Amino acid sequence: MNFSAEEFKRQFPLFAQPENLQLTYLDNAATSQKPQAVIDAICDFYLHSNANTHRSSHRLARRATEMLERVRGQAAAFLNAVSTREIVFCRGATEALNLLANSLCSGLQAGDEIVISTAEHHANIVPWQMMAQRFQLTLRYVPEVAGIPEFDRLEEVLNPRTRIVSLTAGSNALGLRPDLEDIARQLRERDLYWIVDGAQLAAHEPVDVQKIGCDFFVCSAHKFYGPSGIGLLYGRESLLEAMPPWQGGGEMIAEVDLYGCHYAGLPHKFEAGTSSLAAIAGLGAALEFIAAQDRAAMAAHEQALMTLLHRELAALPTVRVISQPQHNLGIAAFAPISGSAADLMHWLDGRDIAVRAGHHCAQPLIRAAGETATVRASFAAYNTRGDVETLVQALRDYAEVVGTPAMELCQQGSDW
Ligand code: PMP
Repeated sequence: MNFSAEEFKRQFPLFAQPENLQLTYLDNAATSQKPQAVIDAICDFYLHSNANTHRSSHRLARRATEMLERVRGQAAAFLNAVSTREIVFCRGATEALNLLANSLCSGLQAGDEIVISTAEHHANIVPWQMMAQRFQLTLRYVPEVAGIPEFDRLEEVLNPRTRIVSLTAGSNALGLRPDLEDIARQLRERDLYWIVDGAQLAAHEPVDVQKIGCDFFVCSAHKFYGPSGIGLLYGRESLLEAMPPWQGGGEMIAEVDLYGCHYAGLPHKFEAGTSSLAAIAGLGAALEFIAAQDRAAMAAHEQALMTLLHRELAALPTVRVISQPQHNLGIAAFAPISGSAADLMHWLDGRDIAVRAGHHCAQPLIRAAGETATVRASFAAYNTRGDVETLVQALRDYAEVVGTPAMELCQQGSDW
C-alpha cells in the first residue's frame, strides 16, 4: 500500500501550529483541513492574479479568467464530466441543490412528485419542501423501516408523476450508502431528473458521473481538502441547456435591455455575479493535490481506521454505536448511555479531541435511530491509528468519571 498517513498529514500546516500539536481532529465530515498547496494557491491568487473574471480584458483579468476556466477543466476531469459546459461553480452543495430545486421545479405542474429519503442532509430536504409548497408539488420518501431508507425499494414510490429523485450518495450522519448502481437500474427509462448529493462521497472515492449515470451531481470543495465557499454542480449539458437560470445578475447574460435579456451560454448562465475567485484557485490546487494521491490506498487506510474504531466502540459498554463499520465514508456515530452527546463532546473537547455532537443537519435520520443527538467522529486520510486510540482512551476515561457526582468533578478541576 502506497500511503503514509503521517507523511500526508505533514502537508497540512494547521497541525503544525503550536496550539494544535495535541489536536485530534475527527470532524472531517463537517470540513477537512487544508494542505499547504491550497493555502498557497489562495494567497498566490491575491498576490499575482486578483482581478474580476470575464468582464475586463486587461492582463490581470485575463490571468484570473484563465485560472477559473482551467479549474473548471480540472473539475470536469475530477467528476469525469463530458464537457466543461457541464460544470457550474456554486458556493457549495447547498447552493447547488437550491439552484436545482428552484430551476427544475419552476417547470413542473402542480401534483408532480419529488422523491427524497430520510437519510438526506437538510440541504437536500428543505429546498424541496420549499418548492413543494410554492408549486403545490408532492414530496415522497424512499420506503423506510424505522426511519432508515431501503433504497432497493425506491421503485415502490415512483409513478408517472415522479419528476425528480434527489438522493444522497452517503449520509453525513451515519455514513449510510445507497447502491448507486441499483438506483440507476431502478430509474432506467424513466422520464425524471436524478440528482446525487455527493457532498460526503467526493472526499473518499473517485467520482465518475458518466458511470453513475445521474443527471446532476453536487459536492463542496471544503470537504475534500479544498476551500470553503466553493462547490460544484455537474449537470448533463442537454438538461442544463434547457433549464432556466436561478439567479439573475452580471456574468449570466449575453445582452440586457429595459424589459428583457438574453442569457449567456453554459455554464455562465448559472453563475450570476462574481464567483469566489480565490476559492476557485484553491479548489484547483485541491484537485491537483488529490489527483497526485493514491486514492485506493487512502480509502483503504480510512476504512482500516473505521473498522478499528468500531471494534473498540463495540467493546465499550458506555456508548451505543449507531453507525456501521462497513460504510467507508469515514463516519462513526455513537451516543453515550448516560449523559448527553453534547456533554460528551465537551468532555472530548477538553482533551483537544474535535468531534461533533447534535443532529448533524439530518434530524429525520437521527430521530429514526432513536436519538435526539449523536456524537460523530469522522475521518480524513491524515487521521492515524493514534487518533483512534486517543479517542477510545478518552471515552474509557469518560466512562469512569461519568458516574462521579458533579460536585466531585468540580473539585477535581474537570473540564466538564
Ligand atoms: N449534503 C451532505 C450529505 C452534507 O454532508 C453536506 C454538508 N454537511 C451538505 C449536503 C451541504 O454542504 P455545504 O454545507 O458545504 O453546502
